[in-house]
Amino acid sequence: MSIKIALAGNPNTGKTTLFNALTGSDQYVGNWPGVTVEKKEGRLGGQKDVIIQDLPGIYSLSPYSLEEKVSRQYLVEEKPDAILNIVDGTNLDRNLYLTTQLAELGLPMMVAVNMMDVVKRNGDTIDFACIGKALHCQVVGIAAQKGDGCNEAATTLVSKIASHGAPEVPHVFGGSVEHALAHIEESIQTLVPKHAIRWYAIKLFERDRDVIKRLGLGVGDLKHIEEHIRDCEKELEDDAESIITSQRYEFIKKLTDKALKKNAKKKETPPLSDRIDRIVTHSVFALPLFVLMLCAMWFLAVADCGPGTLLTDWANDGFLGTESWTLPFTSIEVPGLGALLASGLERIGCGETVRSLVIDGAWGGVATVLGFVPVITIVFLFLSFLEDCGYMARVAFIMDRLFRKFGLSGKSFIPILVGKGCGVPAVMSTRTIENERDHRMTAILATFVPCGAKTVIIAMFASVFFRDQWYVAPLMDVIGIAIIILGGIALKKSSFFAGEAAPFIMELPAYHLPTAKGVVLHTWNRVRGYVLKAGLVIFPVCVALWCVMHFDWHLNLLAEEEIERSILRELGGAVAWFFAPLGVGTWQGAAASVTAELAKEQATATLQLMAGGEEGIAALFGTFSSFPRVAALSFLVFNLFVPPCIVAVVATFREMGSQKWGWFAVAFQMFVGYTLALSIYQFGCLFAGGGFSAWLVPTVIVDLFVLWAVFRRGAKQGTNDE
Ligand code: GDP
Ligand code: MG
Repeated sequence: MSIKIALAGNPNTGKTTLFNALTGSDQYVGNWPGVTVEKKEGRLGGQKDVIIQDLPGIYSLSPYSLEEKVSRQYLVEEKPDAILNIVDGTNLDRNLYLTTQLAELGLPMMVAVNMMDVVKRNGDTIDFACIGKALHCQVVGIAAQKGDGCNEAATTLVSKIASHGAPEVPHVFGGSVEHALAHIEESIQTLVPKHAIRWYAIKLFERDRDVIKRLGLGVGDLKHIEEHIRDCEKELEDDAESIITSQRYEFIKKLTDKALKKNAKKKETPPLSDRIDRIVTHSVFALPLFVLMLCAMWFLAVADCGPGTLLTDWANDGFLGTESWTLPFTSIEVPGLGALLASGLERIGCGETVRSLVIDGAWGGVATVLGFVPVITIVFLFLSFLEDCGYMARVAFIMDRLFRKFGLSGKSFIPILVGKGCGVPAVMSTRTIENERDHRMTAILATFVPCGAKTVIIAMFASVFFRDQWYVAPLMDVIGIAIIILGGIALKKSSFFAGEAAPFIMELPAYHLPTAKGVVLHTWNRVRGYVLKAGLVIFPVCVALWCVMHFDWHLNLLAEEEIERSILRELGGAVAWFFAPLGVGTWQGAAASVTAELAKEQATATLQLMAGGEEGIAALFGTFSSFPRVAALSFLVFNLFVPPCIVAVVATFREMGSQKWGWFAVAFQMFVGYTLALSIYQFGCLFAGGGFSAWLVPTVIVDLFVLWAVFRRGAKQGTNDE
């Protein structure tokens, strides 16, 4: 039989770090709250029969948030064999609040005080024995990031389970509360497991609706319990829930006064974190600073002379290219992968058709996408660094302030930050939003911020059309955020989404200097998915595209100059009208946009397949419109802001909870992307000197509709609350 140990603790205390140290897995460690929503399982290294469970971070065992529900249900109902409560040693008093509640569950428990490296560096000391005595459990110090003390803690806990029965539960409350609790315990004796009786009694005292419902108490019992609660409330002149909360805090205060010795000298200067935060979360400078960060990121990634462009050019023309390249600092010639592939095909005697399929079709598409690996690596390195050092949590905090002005919850911003990496986990992480209307709204909006795959499209267009306009790339992020805010405002004004923003309590984690290993691992996890996708999605799609581009409906192989008769030409041509008002109304424009729904970076691979290298793509847009750069911008915006790739759309459908809402999400996203591209193209051409076009009339009408939707007076509180 295997032993189950649950890792429980506040958000951001190092649960996942400890989990990874114990199980040897590489779960994502994030320096912000709310990352671990689902619980994860792993086996304790060296002891295959011990299962470690990483629970979502929680502040208490009340049922107020999804994380709390998940953790509480697991702890109370599935009953792990032991609890390893991880506590942030730099934040002892707040963390112990949860500890006192966990202790009441009556399960074997150990408290691991983490971040001891920081505690020691600050010159503070913690008396573990003293805390242990008060809480009736063993307390040890660990430093999870370095792995110090982790395995010892787990093995000690395992040996405890074997040798001891259920532990004694600490008593943290005053006389009159204990009196009421004793009576409540008496009346539920037969209904609940013996070890957890105190926990249930306290929850009943707090009038916890879930617990009352679950126990199914009779009217008589409930009345009896209620009398005792009332007596206590009258005596202490407070409501039951507040009594419990404040007595817990009193208990903890007394305990930490005894057990925690702060370094007296250190108090004088505010911690560095606070000083940095004064600038980073400044009411005026915060947002410009964030935009500056985005600009810096994009500058490194796509600026003409930046490292991203240099590496991408080298990858395209050298490493992945169809010619030889010289190893830096030497005169050794190395053939590019494309060249190797071509000569290999020649050697086995392949004909021109197969060569075209493999080199121009499959390899061309895959290499185009892989060529941008340096760009996305830089973007992800930058984001991982900002996340791991704690800056992104500040961004969520600043955005909360901004969002709140518009009746949106800052909690909606966490999924949006996740979405910078990939839309799929972003949409899934909206599940942490309790309020169903805000949950749906965030799922609709989360994918508007350009993800990693969209980064590839941005990088290609920045390099082909906007080499001198470095600001186009960061502008796409800014547009994404603007859509989220304005879209949120517009949705909030409809009666389906109206209502108070859910409160968002988030503490700012201390800044850490991220470990190189952490940042690299985090970046690699994201880049790996993208390289895999090049093989699993882009490759087969390019092969299929090459085929429909080189055959007609009678399956005759077409010569290059006969492409106009191809299946793809006809399919694309059939829907090209849809793209005409956007300036890309040709079969090529349609094919690129439609295939991008499979994976966003496919847009670049499809363009490559149809037009060849950068000059070819520039020339292709020249055939689309007399203002090719306006058409390029419109195409770019269209592909970034219409519904995300099919995988993210499926995730959105799941999150929306019904077909009807799923289609609403897709329609909304389509409307946004189309309207934006339409406005850019129509007004762009007008200002570029293209004269009046009949399309301007509908464009102005939809734009006025959008303005109305954003600025009209909102509906009252929604009525379809669940
Ligand atoms: P979780 O939210 O509880 O799962 O916490 P994580 O494991 O994601 O860790 C939160 C942050 O604390 C990360 O930036 C970790 O690198 C950092 N961290 C974890 N353990 C330690 C430690 O022992 N010392 C220090 N200085 N930082 C730590
Ligand atoms: Mg975690």
